[in-house]
Amino acid sequence: MNSIPKTVWVFVIFSLFYLSVNAQPYTKNRSPLIEKTYMELPLGSIQPKGWLREMLQRQKTGATGELDKLYPLVMGERNGWLGGDGDQWERGPYWIDGLLPLAYLLDDKELKEKAQKWVEWAIASQRADGYFGPSKDYDAEPGVQRNNSEDWWPKMVMLKILQQYYAATNDQRVVQLFTNYFHYQLKTLQEKPLGHWTFWAEYRSGDNLQAVYWLYNITGDKAMLELTDILHAQGFDFTEKFLQRNMLASHRSIHCVNLAQGLKEPVIFYQQSKDPKHLASVKQGLSDIKLFNGQAQGMYGGDEALHGNVATQGSELCSSVEMMFSLEKMLELTGDVEFAEHLEKVAFNALPTQISDDFMKRQYFQQANQVQIKRQMYNFDVNHNGTDLVFGLLTGYPCCTSNMHQGWPKFTQNLYYATTDGGVASFIFSPSTAQIKVGAHAETVAINQDTFYPFEEQVKITLQHQNKQGITFPYHLRIPSWAKNPKVLINGTVWKGKAKPGEVLVIDRKWLNNDTIVLNLPMELNFETYEEGSRAIERGPLVYALDIPGEEKEVFFPKEEQVIFGKSYLEVTPLSDWNYGFIMFKKEDMNELFSVKQHIATDKNYPWNRENTPVELRVKAKQLPFWKLYNGMAGPMPSADMYGLNSNELKDQEIRLIPYGCTTLRISQFPMIRR
Ligand SMILES: [Zn+2]
Repeated sequence: MNSIPKTVWVFVIFSLFYLSVNAQPYTKNRSPLIEKTYMELPLGSIQPKGWLREMLQRQKTGATGELDKLYPLVMGERNGWLGGDGDQWERGPYWIDGLLPLAYLLDDKELKEKAQKWVEWAIASQRADGYFGPSKDYDAEPGVQRNNSEDWWPKMVMLKILQQYYAATNDQRVVQLFTNYFHYQLKTLQEKPLGHWTFWAEYRSGDNLQAVYWLYNITGDKAMLELTDILHAQGFDFTEKFLQRNMLASHRSIHCVNLAQGLKEPVIFYQQSKDPKHLASVKQGLSDIKLFNGQAQGMYGGDEALHGNVATQGSELCSSVEMMFSLEKMLELTGDVEFAEHLEKVAFNALPTQISDDFMKRQYFQQANQVQIKRQMYNFDVNHNGTDLVFGLLTGYPCCTSNMHQGWPKFTQNLYYATTDGGVASFIFSPSTAQIKVGAHAETVAINQDTFYPFEEQVKITLQHQNKQGITFPYHLRIPSWAKNPKVLINGTVWKGKAKPGEVLVIDRKWLNNDTIVLNLPMELNFETYEEGSRAIERGPLVYALDIPGEEKEVFFPKEEQVIFGKSYLEVTPLSDWNYGFIMFKKEDMNELFSVKQHIATDKNYPWNRENTPVELRVKAKQLPFWKLYNGMAGPMPSADMYGLNSNELKDQEIRLIPYGCTTLRISQFPMIRR
């Protein structure tokens, strides 16, 4: 060492210093993958505020924080992912995939410890050949999945968990585990392909794929790009199916959760293929999901098989949270505003209503038009002894009980991205704070987002930092496509650039401490068209539905059903009429027909129920005496093309619409009547 001249050492030290100052603190895509602009922040860099924090708090005091006690048969010590002889498959990892990010977002010691047990067992389980996870099958037992322990699929969930754990802690054991496991996959997949144990791994290969790219970006191990080719080739061919279009136009052609979860695969593989058809296929797919199966809340008829666009077909809770995760991953990869808007639609409409206010009960299926909730057989693909619509902890099927926890934590984690040009991006909005390294010298800026979005039109962002000279960096902001006359103010002055709906604004300037950006996003009334010409009323990111008061009744399961369905369930009976439609109207007339009322005094911490609704619409509707209950559901949708109906003979009634996410019973797709 002494032989190295002093000048060389000075150079080496200077170079290291220079590199550390200028190194991007966030992980970029490595060549030959596409260069992508947006990068996820370390878990813990973003904190929820306001109503979003309250949602996460309720998860902590509700089922997410307590699932080991509420559902001990599966989530207790006997779970295979803790080394036990109980459940060996997806449910344990599903829970931790929500619990772990929740723990770090709330910086909650007790929850972190709860999640850590699962992380430690997973890491310690790795064998010399690289395999990890449960590997012993047991005999069948009611309420527990004890076979297919070596299936590729549940590992994919654990990989997602460990990625988040690494993003929070930088624990290098994760990199080692991934490296060993992916080399094991490389050796083993020819002999035991993705579909060797169950077909789920083929449809969900995108989750495996994204984890391999994640590791490749950290280590640069070229063998990983051989593995991604194999995973793509063995996975279900969403690209081809979406481009052919037959699958989404046909009922029962695909499982609803496989669709929501798998549809990101082409976009994820695009990083490597650079083939535009992989992006185009998913755009076609999302458009066809809406065309052939779409419901007002941004989801689709899929109960469990894909089941068309009738407003009373079920939509599974797992498909909502998996759709959100797919949209989040695709948004981060592409910065495409359509993904951001679809994500907000599912998060602000479908998600809040399907889980109870205390985060203890949920529906297995929800309906866009949901006029009563009873235990009975419905026109669903599956029925689970008639328990699919009622609220319960384990009603329907327990996958949703296990999987619902990832929804809000991952949504929070996607509120901000770092950008490769040293800036920040906000594509979706909610009250929050974040710390991000920006500019040429990776200086920390604290971001404070004050807003009651999605219930108000203004988003105020304040930037704080220590640099008295200011820091130059770009702020990327999504302007929603529904905001027709958006306004951007910097420190109270209208920004000179043009803010166009549906675009990403890039404001590149020197930001001083306490500079503010205010987005004014006017929420115009609008509508979308669905089954039989029915319409959903929208205003900004929210869908508005008929407010139907309901009476809840708790019903206890007989002893012999409790192991499968839990102790009890909630039925909800409507206390008012629901059979209303609208006379055909034009979009231009909506301001005159609908009145908007903001409720200032609302509890801003928990706006997601009918008592606390922050906004309501009033409108005159027509009652349709021929639209009745059929098999416990709103009967077949009256067609917008009904000739010979004299609308003058129909009773006028003023009705109240509230945000879809605040309803339990609702009509969100209204029949339209010819003038
Ligand atoms: Zn489910």
